[in-house]
Amino acid sequence: MKMLNYINGTLVAPISGDYLDNTDPSTGEIFSYVPDSDERDVQLAYEAANAAFPTWSKMAKSKRSAIMMKVASLLLENLDRFAKAESQDNGKPVWLAESVDIPRAASNFEFYATAILHDSAETHEMEDVALNYTMRQPLGVVGCISPWNLPLYLFSWKIAPALASGNCVIAKPSEVTPLTAYLLSEICIEAGMPAGVLNIVHGLGPKVGEAMIVHPDIPAISFTGGTATGKHIARQAAPMFKKLSLELGGKNPNLIFADCDFEKMIKTTLRSSFANQGEICLCGSRILVEESIYTQFKERFVEEVRKLKVGHPSGDVNMGAIVSKGHMEKVQSYIELGKEEGGTVLCGGNRVYPEGYEGGFYLEPTVIEGLDYDCRTNQEEIFGPVVTIMPFKTDEEALMYANSTKFGLAATVWTSNLNRAHKVAAELHTGIVWINTWLLRDLRTPFGGVKQSGVGREGGFEALRFFTEPKNVCIKF
Ligand code: NAD
Repeated sequence: MKMLNYINGTLVAPISGDYLDNTDPSTGEIFSYVPDSDERDVQLAYEAANAAFPTWSKMAKSKRSAIMMKVASLLLENLDRFAKAESQDNGKPVWLAESVDIPRAASNFEFYATAILHDSAETHEMEDVALNYTMRQPLGVVGCISPWNLPLYLFSWKIAPALASGNCVIAKPSEVTPLTAYLLSEICIEAGMPAGVLNIVHGLGPKVGEAMIVHPDIPAISFTGGTATGKHIARQAAPMFKKLSLELGGKNPNLIFADCDFEKMIKTTLRSSFANQGEICLCGSRILVEESIYTQFKERFVEEVRKLKVGHPSGDVNMGAIVSKGHMEKVQSYIELGKEEGGTVLCGGNRVYPEGYEGGFYLEPTVIEGLDYDCRTNQEEIFGPVVTIMPFKTDEEALMYANSTKFGLAATVWTSNLNRAHKVAAELHTGIVWINTWLLRDLRTPFGGVKQSGVGREGGFEALRFFTEPKNVCIKF
């Protein structure tokens, strides 16, 4: 199957006529082809988007909202097809795509389609001198670039607020997992999205993504991906004074105190370590445990990790396949590094070959102990099913370990001491803190990281603010 770009309301082949192989990570076999587009396709998309902008940005919000709600309902009507496609492209269990990824993509459209109906402008009165009001106007044609780990979920998390606030969009999904973005373009046509409002250009980062970030008439880029790519984008875009939202990597700590609800903590820590094969930017990969319960934690956690089932994503499994051969090898290299740095692999560490799917990219969930907090294994993002466990003695020591990396995306704290919960949350250098839970998201709340985990915030009205420019109008009486 050959995918197509979605430009000016129609599905079109890339100008080059070239395609890239798209591999099913559960079998290791090529199952489809994705357009290898370049700057010429981006330019066509730009022209279509620019032509659509005057009408889309001036359309009544209720009408824009209705089109986006239609996209959401078509996504849910096609839940099964989308979930299977997401799983085949990414390797994640079908049940996970069906219960999380696709419903969340629909929610993203619903959330922003309805948010714009309840937004209002600010006024600043200067007694009997003047009145200021602040308009929030769309930026024009904006660029959205997303990664492979939560393909449609993150793609729509950017596109929805951009469209809702009246922009036209050029979007590029990851070339590793393009399939659901392609299916989304079919649904947009069915939903009656006007031509040119959303354009989806497939292909490689250094070709399509690069053409978007250096395009002189695209004033804003919303990017989610690796920190190295984010740095490159910032370097390119800064001299052009583009607005940038960068959601980057993480190396998130879990701080587990002896006074926590042990059973709840174990259950959630299994998820926060290995959900989506550990390929979620919010997964907790450094598990810090108070010394007095360290041995109890270690024995129980390892026992539970050993029970996790790894296998073909269509089955009754906890973990499916790693997204690609290259990424699997990267994760394996970090397991080797962990050993070289003096760590002990308590469980996992090996490739898995499920019967009938021996060519797929499967890894065991892996737990390593005995590493210093400042070694590379504990400082660099692995982004796979690998966690380290480490004891700590005091709250201060736990915080020092937690805050020691260059990243600052999320942290999870397990304690039943209310004072400690608030104090530790305030001291953590992260954009998100979960207390006694993980991955619980209210779409109204700000989402993003500090330090090298990113710049800017997504979520709720933050994203609508990013995709609009405030303009103050001052009227003298
Ligand atoms: P990546 O940076 O390799 O790619 C992300 C996207 O950027 C892809 O679409 C890619 O094609 C594109 N790209 C690559 N080079 C580019 C360039 N020169 N110009 C423009 N675009 C370019 O990241 P990935 O491997 O797809 O995703 C994994 C990373 O994403 C991890 O580091 C993970 O932590 C991060 N991530 C962060 C969040 C968050 O919200 N902070 C969420 C999910 C994933």
